[in-house]
Amino acid sequence: MLRLSKKVQSLPPYLFLEIDKAKRKARQEGRDIIDLGIGDPDQPTPMHIIDALNQAARDPANHRYALDQGMPALRQAIASWYKARFNVNLAPDTQILPLIGSKEGIAHFPLAFLNAGDISLIPDPCYPPYKGGTILAGGSAHLMPLLEENNFLPDLKRIPFLARKKAKMIFVNYPNNPTNACASDGFYRELIDFAKRNKIIVISDLAYSEMVYDGYKARSLLEFPGAQDVVIEFHSLSKTYNMTGWRLGWASGNPRLIAALAKVKSNIDSGIFSAIQLAGVAALSTGQDFTAKMCQLYQERRDILVSGLQSLGWQVTKPKATFYLWIKIPGSSDSMSFASRLLKEADIVATPGVGFGRYGEGYIRMALTVPKERIREALERLKKIS
Ligand SMILES: *Cc1c(COP(=O)(O)O)cnc(C)c1O
Repeated sequence: MLRLSKKVQSLPPYLFLEIDKAKRKARQEGRDIIDLGIGDPDQPTPMHIIDALNQAARDPANHRYALDQGMPALRQAIASWYKARFNVNLAPDTQILPLIGSKEGIAHFPLAFLNAGDISLIPDPCYPPYKGGTILAGGSAHLMPLLEENNFLPDLKRIPFLARKKAKMIFVNYPNNPTNACASDGFYRELIDFAKRNKIIVISDLAYSEMVYDGYKARSLLEFPGAQDVVIEFHSLSKTYNMTGWRLGWASGNPRLIAALAKVKSNIDSGIFSAIQLAGVAALSTGQDFTAKMCQLYQERRDILVSGLQSLGWQVTKPKATFYLWIKIPGSSDSMSFASRLLKEADIVATPGVGFGRYGEGYIRMALTVPKERIREALERLKKIS
């Protein structure tokens, strides 16, 4: 048999395999599993977005290949959304590129700028496509540990000279999956300065900007002075509008970076189904009411789960954004064994931190994507095994 390519061989192993297998087996046995593992909203897409898709799907004009660079109506809706939300001006023609979900764009972007031997600066723990995209482009990852003592921000001063010199891009993601940390203004200013001094592209993954609590408001990196020279920011309708399955996101920022990603993509895909793009326009034109309602729902779940875990003596704090809790594992067990134990003894699925990188060891992630009653039931079960 032909060997897999070196690139594919060097992709990180999929560490959630074991848990996935155990979860499937438990379900087959008829056990009542509470799945706090998935980062996927449990609530449906709002009906007016579904209606917009239905209507657009009936129009034959939408049945043909879509424009590679996305429909003008969608790019304009994204520009208006950015202006209203962040007071950032983006030119719809040159600074916005719709994507088949932001993961697609994030994973393809390194192909535009990495040559063999080039480095991406990647946070650890992190969302897996930062590493995957880098490796598939022939680059290598220099990991920046996200540590609690630094509020889960990378310490840019500790990046070694050689890595800094060979680096073409740096990935950041705030509000952060999996640690739920948020970036300070000071960190963003330092990051832009660092990128300019070292000629490094900044990739900002803003998927969770709208899932915020207690009055916190996440900022776009593009709000900061000088950012438009070095930043490409990725956003998504997945989490904000409960649209993970629809596959719609976008990149925005520096025109040269946007054009480079568009060039890569024009060789890979042929645009996004126009009816989905028009549904995206309907989503982005939704008032803030829907988002506020969803945040309220996650916030109630957060409060129940955090105070419940705290009363069991677990070390966990209330996140001000994202729908994840990042929890220090009680006792001395590693994250894989702890997650297995939760599944075996309490029929609860949680994600082992090491699956996001080795600095995720010692933690598990729980998602607030199940109803309150199920969270209360999970706490009852945990009480019995603690
Ligand atoms: C969910 C998520 C995304 C969004 O992915 P889509 O491909 O747009 O669905 C991006 N980044 C992070 C960190 C995520 O958790």
